[in-house]
Amino acid sequence: MRNNKIWLSSPHMGGTELKYINQAFETNWVAPLGPNVDGFEADLESYLGYGAYVGALSSGTAALHLGLIMLGVGYGDEVICQSMTFSASANPIRYLGAQPVFVDSESDTWNICPDSLEEAIKDRLKKGKKPKAIVAVHLYGMPYKVDELREIADRYEIPILEDSAEALGSSYKGQKCGTFGDISILSFNGNKIITTSGGGAIVVKDKKFKDKAVFLSTQARDNAPHYQHSEVGYNYRMSNICAGIGRGQMEVLDKHIALRRSMHDFYVSLFKEKPGITVFKEPNSDFFSNHWLSAIIVDSSIVGVNREDVRLALEAENIESRPLWKPMHLQPVFEGCPYYGGKVSEDLFDKGLCLPSGSNLGESERERISGLLEVFFDRKLSV
Ligand SMILES: *Cc1c(COP(=O)(O)O)cnc(C)c1O
Repeated sequence: MRNNKIWLSSPHMGGTELKYINQAFETNWVAPLGPNVDGFEADLESYLGYGAYVGALSSGTAALHLGLIMLGVGYGDEVICQSMTFSASANPIRYLGAQPVFVDSESDTWNICPDSLEEAIKDRLKKGKKPKAIVAVHLYGMPYKVDELREIADRYEIPILEDSAEALGSSYKGQKCGTFGDISILSFNGNKIITTSGGGAIVVKDKKFKDKAVFLSTQARDNAPHYQHSEVGYNYRMSNICAGIGRGQMEVLDKHIALRRSMHDFYVSLFKEKPGITVFKEPNSDFFSNHWLSAIIVDSSIVGVNREDVRLALEAENIESRPLWKPMHLQPVFEGCPYYGGKVSEDLFDKGLCLPSGSNLGESERERISGLLEVFFDRKLSV
């Protein structure tokens, strides 16, 4: 019999989620509004702090779409976007008929490189077009270089749309990710650090922006007894059932972060004596990652195998792993988009692998992973 599958990152319920769902059924709040939506938003607002206002939505992608709209992005505009990310960071730019301008990563945080960002802004300005927004991402939970990006964004007066989909619970200099953007977003998809099965949120700094986001996400109905509309609306609000899962998940968020961080520590000690394998780490103590996914860089010139060999060895034992995000400037769907930078993200994609990272992985899963990898690398290293 085959061993159970070890997933990269799977949902991990805390135990009280069903209580909130049952309350929704008992009170017939089976709709995209209700006490769980309000409660989940309040939980997130107090968790994030820094005066954050949260609007719960149907997905992180929907939140990015509304965020771009609220920053005034429209047809023909240009939006700068971190190239190394999940496609959902960039797709909403296209929903609006706008043009993504991709920027390379730097090797400390794997996130948008401040130097390449500035080069991109200068060149777009020279070509006569000021970018409307910067989509910056905290990849795998690692905060981007917050101070450097903020300084550049302010100097050129371009707002930041902070994609914190992977970084709920991460922080930079003690301040929570999700509070650094002019507008920020979160995701609660099934594979994220907490889940509502599917869901997301927009985070803003002012109650009136939250009201605006909620208005747009509920079909933009004007205040009238009949259905009256002066703006294009969307059906993006979170369901009260899903928000019930979210309320239960908020009770275990910090515990799950500690467990993900301990998975990271497990990989650090597993690869401590393995030259050629580098575990992705915080560059210094300003950065605190939730370590949503643990990742390694495999230097094939030292190890003698590449990341694909490692991935296939794991797959043969029913253990899921995945190459890092393939940069957007290399994706067929974004062919021809402007790109600034060098080969940092491309190189990371070639060598990087995400390993099982779930908060629900116990001792037996760790033993299977370490047993396999130790044998695999010792065999390869001794060839
Ligand atoms: C998951 C994710 C999204 C999209 O969130 P959904 O809730 O799945 O729509 C956006 N950006 C990044 C970086 C993500 O990882």
